[in-house]
Amino acid sequence: MTECLFCRIVSGEIPAEVVATSEHALAFRDINPTAPTHVLVIPTRHVVDIPTLAGAPAELADLVALGARVAAQEGLDDGYRLVANTGRAGGQVVFHAHLHVIGGRRMGWPPG
Ligand code: 5GP
Ligand code: ZN
Repeated sequence: MTECLFCRIVSGEIPAEVVATSEHALAFRDINPTAPTHVLVIPTRHVVDIPTLAGAPAELADLVALGARVAAQEGLDDGYRLVANTGRAGGQVVFHAHLHVIGGRRMGWPPG
């Protein structure tokens, strides 16, 4: 049995509110939303972080395209934030690659 939380969501072992799927990716609502829309988009295959996915361009493109589809589906026509926290100092807590799709409120800059 895998220790990885997001692999367990992919397998259905841990429930999640799935909002969209694609050939290589899954999108589900963050359990602790930071904005009216906060969706995580993950590759269904276990890779540690987004830069690692650069070695699999088709999967990376599919992931980003699913993020854009989720944003459209959520009505974020005015813009949104796509975030890839990478490594501990970058704020990454779950070491299965994911993009945050965050929107529905005005975003501040710089991020904390
Ligand atoms: P990170 O800090 O690694 O970029 O983001 C991990 C995200 O996963 C956090 O925003 C956190 O709220 C979310 N998260 C952690 N555990 C769960 C869970 O069991 N289900 C869902 N849907 N999201 C989770
Ligand atoms: Zn995983």
